Amino acid sequence: MSNYDYDLFVIGAGSGGVRCARMSASMGARVAIAEERYFGGTCVNVGCVPKKLFVYAAHVREDLHTAASFGWTVENARFHWPTLLENKNREIARLNGIYRSILANAGVDIMEGRATIAAPHQIAFNGRIITARNILIATGGWPVKPDIPGIEHAITSNEFFHLPQLPNTALIVGGGYIAVEFAGILHNLGVQTTLSYRGPLILRGFDQDIRQHVCNAMSAKGIAFQFNHRITALTKLPDGKIQIIDSDGKILAVDCVIMATGRNPNTDGLGLENTAVERDVHGAILVDDRLQTAEPGIFAVGDVINRIQLTPVALAEGMALAHYLFGTGPGQVDYRNIPTAVFSQPSIGTVGLSEEQAREQGFDVVIFRSTFTPMQQSLSDIKEKTLMKLVVDRASDKVLGAHMVGPDAGEIIQGLAIAIRMGATKAQFDQTIGIHPTAAEEFVTMRSPV
Ligand code: FAD
Ligand code: NDP
Repeated sequence: MSNYDYDLFVIGAGSGGVRCARMSASMGARVAIAEERYFGGTCVNVGCVPKKLFVYAAHVREDLHTAASFGWTVENARFHWPTLLENKNREIARLNGIYRSILANAGVDIMEGRATIAAPHQIAFNGRIITARNILIATGGWPVKPDIPGIEHAITSNEFFHLPQLPNTALIVGGGYIAVEFAGILHNLGVQTTLSYRGPLILRGFDQDIRQHVCNAMSAKGIAFQFNHRITALTKLPDGKIQIIDSDGKILAVDCVIMATGRNPNTDGLGLENTAVERDVHGAILVDDRLQTAEPGIFAVGDVINRIQLTPVALAEGMALAHYLFGTGPGQVDYRNIPTAVFSQPSIGTVGLSEEQAREQGFDVVIFRSTFTPMQQSLSDIKEKTLMKLVVDRASDKVLGAHMVGPDAGEIIQGLAIAIRMGATKAQFDQTIGIHPTAAEEFVTMRSPV
């Protein structure tokens, strides 16, 4: 095909890189992939997978409580953090092996270590230069901590996954996905948890009803929220606690401070100065519709382009690029109606436009909303309401958005995402016969607008 060593050299074996490498090799391309840290990237090692395992662990607390209402006696239930860590680490080691073998079985050359770009079509790896017709940058992102005095005393999600001991008290800074998910995990595992957010309400960008509902439910469980709150300094006390000073001069001391203040694209020291690749103000690599950078032959996918930082988006981009380079695909990803879940306690599932976004975009909307106690809780004293909401365009009757807070929200919204992607109308939702008794049937039985 060419005089290059490879048709494609992928830097980073995370969600996007692995998918593109594997698909490209299966289409006959000669592919190599370099990984400097861990196979499977953020999602497998310090993201979706360990997080979801921790969410399951945390939820057991509520399951035990509900169990009693069904007549079960659960005596001496105790939680042991080191067991959870050990089991989680074993599972991740297994997944690392699976990722390796998926690549090897697809015929991808695996290179363990850091790769950088020496020049267009040239990669520096382990003291040698490797040439490739195409280079894919799939180097992901890394947590950012705000620049305040004593910030070295705070950890991020990366370190949380390896904490030798669970703290008794914790402060989480941020109001996004990680802050909200971690607050639920910590609280249910018995940690006295405070969430500090600089804005007025968690989860900016989500539907307002959803934000308020989940915040109320988390507060009712006992998680403390500090809104419009700014941390100005951290100091380590002689007893090991971390003292936090806020902009009002108030002082709080906790065992652990976790910064969940976003993630920056991973591009430092990558050799981009040896190319025409351009970055935006946040350091994200700029790509066109076909994921190509300003340097022909260099592409980028996933968190490093900072479009939507979700694993399925990185996978879709990696797949689209493989088809574009070595198949017949157009190479474009459709970013509309991407469903997402926040694995908070209670969890959120959402797809399409929020009520606020729909109004901003000029739609005349009809809103359907239902709140109810899920049947599973009907015998217990946990009375955490489920919320379901549909945002419908009055003119076309199309469902523009579906939102939910409650058990299995992500599982339920995934199915609705197909319908919404296909342009389903509210009338078609209504014509669909429900499955009884489920919570999901509520989505096809909401008849009266609010
Ligand atoms: P990554 O998975 O970060 O992979 C990049 C890889 O490149 C890394 O393995 C890195 O070591 C390697 N690398 C970097 N530089 C070099 C170099 N120079 N040479 C060699 N290798 C290099 N998304 C969801 O959809 N659902 C979730 O529930 C979810 N939960 C999350 C929870 C947490 C705590 C976090 C942090 C993220 C979560 N995400 C979740 C987001 C998801 O993990 C990312 O969107 C996804 O991993 C991005 O994939 P990627 O391929 O772009 O990058
Ligand atoms: P997010 O971007 O979701 O949230 C960052 C939060 O930190 C925001 O509330 C932001 O405030 C706040 N913040 C940013 N900078 C500062 C600062 N200097 N001082 C104080 N607060 C600050 O990032 P996360 O770190 O939570 O997660 C990274 C990404 O990973 C997510 O965006 C998501 O795409 C992905 N992810 C997905 C998950 C899932 O699918 N379930 C789970 C976890 C992560 P403001 O709102 O005001 O900007």
